[in-house]
Amino acid sequence: MTVPNIDASKLTTTLTQTPKALFDKNKMSFGKNFTDHMLCIKYTEENGWEAPEIKPYGPLQIDPAAFVLNYSVETFEGMKAFRAEDSTINLFRPEKNMQRLATSSQRIMLPEFDQEQFLQCIKELVKVDQRFVPDEYGYSLYVRPNFIGTEPNLNLTYSREAMLYVYLSPVGPYFPRTVKLYANSKLVRAWPGGVGNFKLGGNYAPALKPAMDVVAKGYDQILWLLGDDHYVTEVGTMNFFIFWINDDGEKELVTAPLDGIILPGVTRDSLLSLARQWGEFKVSERKITMPEVVRAIEDGRMLEAFGAGTACVVCSVSEVCYEDNEYTIPVDPSNPDAVFGPLTRRLRNELLDIQYAKTPSSWAVPV
Ligand SMILES: *Cc1c(COP(=O)(O)O)cnc(C)c1O
Repeated sequence: MTVPNIDASKLTTTLTQTPKALFDKNKMSFGKNFTDHMLCIKYTEENGWEAPEIKPYGPLQIDPAAFVLNYSVETFEGMKAFRAEDSTINLFRPEKNMQRLATSSQRIMLPEFDQEQFLQCIKELVKVDQRFVPDEYGYSLYVRPNFIGTEPNLNLTYSREAMLYVYLSPVGPYFPRTVKLYANSKLVRAWPGGVGNFKLGGNYAPALKPAMDVVAKGYDQILWLLGDDHYVTEVGTMNFFIFWINDDGEKELVTAPLDGIILPGVTRDSLLSLARQWGEFKVSERKITMPEVVRAIEDGRMLEAFGAGTACVVCSVSEVCYEDNEYTIPVDPSNPDAVFGPLTRRLRNELLDIQYAKTPSSWAVPV
């Protein structure tokens, strides 16, 4: 017997009686301010997906014995809505986030959901709260879908009840500055056969202490390594890119492959596509190791290094500490004050122009 899937045509909207004032643009720190409404869609194994609801933003009611609160049956997504110059609002490649949410949720036995119908409901939510989508370049509305197992049941089977919910947070421009990394070979974020390639809440709690420990040492983020050969995987919660002259003397943009260890970033995928379209240098998804990185820095072959993710788009790396040695990575040799390397800046600008619909692209999806 099949149970109902998500049906956007059944969406109901209850508007808030107490609309918030718009947030002060100068105080829009990431992920701390939320808009007036949220989207909730409940599921039970018996009756399938209920009618989606948009309602005033507020606390959820969850049974204390719910799967999510005991066993971290939770997966999430992060994407952004951008206001174009003509005031229309676009989401950036949201179908990629829907696919990734589906893949992540399958891994923790959460139920299948209709990706298109769910996205339709998200678009409705953004429309309801559209006054919160900032109209300045660099600003956007961060969209955070969560998917949780809500059945009260301590048995380690799977959650027969679930909820998808989505809320919105206006975000200001990421303050551009270069970051210092600490390459950690003792602690790992993900491992072969593990779940590093899924956006599961359970992946992030264990990374908090290592991350805060490197901040206490004066670094910004961890460069996560894996295995005896110190394979370079990701930085903090960003994918990691290197632009260098490789061992064969070729200019190459390289990032870790989708081998189950790294998170398949939408930004990563988009930057690889742009660089491949240019066709000006080699673009590779392959394993590189920390000794190779160090050798390139020492030989002067390291041109640029950067992290990539939805929150910042790209973020240039100026330094990396590895086995107690500090290595400086050039940002832009022609400009000592540069916060982006030339290639990093070009990638960033091309992506932002697509996100703000200055360059027409199928990646900008109107709400
Ligand atoms: C979300 C995330 C990224 C970046 O993914 P985007 O889709 O580009 O935002 C990279 N690494 C980790 C661990 C992440 O959680």
